[in-house]
Amino acid sequence: MNESLNNLNGVKNTNISTIYIHIPFCKQACHYCDFHFSTNIAQQDLMLSCINKEITLRKAYLPENTTIQSIYLGGGTPSLIKIEYIALLINNVFKNYKITEQPEITIEVNPDDIDEYKLKRFKQIGINRLSIGVQSFNNNNLKYLNRAHDKQKAIKSVDLARQVGLDNVSIDLIYCIPGSSKNILLSDLDTATSLSPTHISAYSLTIENRTFLGKLKSIGKLQEVDEEESAQQFEVLMQTLEAKKYEHYEISNFCLDKQYSKHNTNYWFNRPYLGLGPGAHSYNLTSRQYNIANNKKYIESLNKGIVPFYKEELTNTQMINEYIMTSIRTKWGTDTKKLLLNHGYNLLDKKKAIVASMISTDLIKLEDGIIFLKSKGKLLADKITQELFID
Ligand code: SF4
Repeated sequence: MNESLNNLNGVKNTNISTIYIHIPFCKQACHYCDFHFSTNIAQQDLMLSCINKEITLRKAYLPENTTIQSIYLGGGTPSLIKIEYIALLINNVFKNYKITEQPEITIEVNPDDIDEYKLKRFKQIGINRLSIGVQSFNNNNLKYLNRAHDKQKAIKSVDLARQVGLDNVSIDLIYCIPGSSKNILLSDLDTATSLSPTHISAYSLTIENRTFLGKLKSIGKLQEVDEEESAQQFEVLMQTLEAKKYEHYEISNFCLDKQYSKHNTNYWFNRPYLGLGPGAHSYNLTSRQYNIANNKKYIESLNKGIVPFYKEELTNTQMINEYIMTSIRTKWGTDTKKLLLNHGYNLLDKKKAIVASMISTDLIKLEDGIIFLKSKGKLLADKITQELFID
């Protein structure tokens, strides 16, 4: 087991977890987005006081003796709300939970709603990692996605972060945008790497039904990027970032110098997490909990001291499949010994023929009972996952 796995892996650190706080407000609706948010920020005061209530009400959710290694403010657009409110949330988490000595504290920001003053204040209140929603440096792509910034603002936001000493910067990129191309992706990656962010998350555009793009698709006005082009763009992504020394540590995530996202690795290592705010999800190893994704109802309920959620008890089959689905995508792979130990499931026995065929076709490798995707397998990660799922 390598050192980084030792530090991060849930097997060794079962008492580690993370907190996610969902801020459900955005300036405008991006055309691809189906996260929970509202463009009406009039109720931000009420909302923030309710999330603060939830922070105290959910204290017993995580397993006893849990230490929080990461606090993540996501959304929505947390950088839209008053900094004093963000400071209050962070202080409240520190007051009510056991936090590790040097927690990762991330805030998601959009390039158009940060400036030097805001970034300096973020640093003062303890934020040490920025996740910047760049998505593309191409103005046509940005318009197509209905982002509120342009290329120059995106570049400036990363530069500004550096100037104020917020060095741990992740940027989000989207590829496989209809009407875009491999060359545009290459240019995006060139610009991105020239700014040397410590971390890059790059997602292939998914067209969700409820979104503006989904509606265009349903009336035949949007042609999705086909499978072949999509695979080629993914290869461009992998090759370009690896050539620039970015480690491909999860299908959609790359980093410099082992600066893995603690927040994301917590999910992938199947550790518990607490999600606060409307639409946030939580996981305590045996069940998932989903807060209501409705601002008005969330506020009404919290005002009565009740967290509105529904809960799903996980079956052993669900737990096995979720572990396979998340772990196979990472550089740490799917540990079949862990499946046997924790869930009594002998994957290597049950899927013997499939695993053998995937090894012989160079899609995966098996080392010490751990299944790893090979380069070719990364292109077919979803299909491989489906085939490894318990029947
Ligand atoms: S800013 Fe983020 S959360 Fe808000 S609409 Fe755009 S993609 Fe969705």
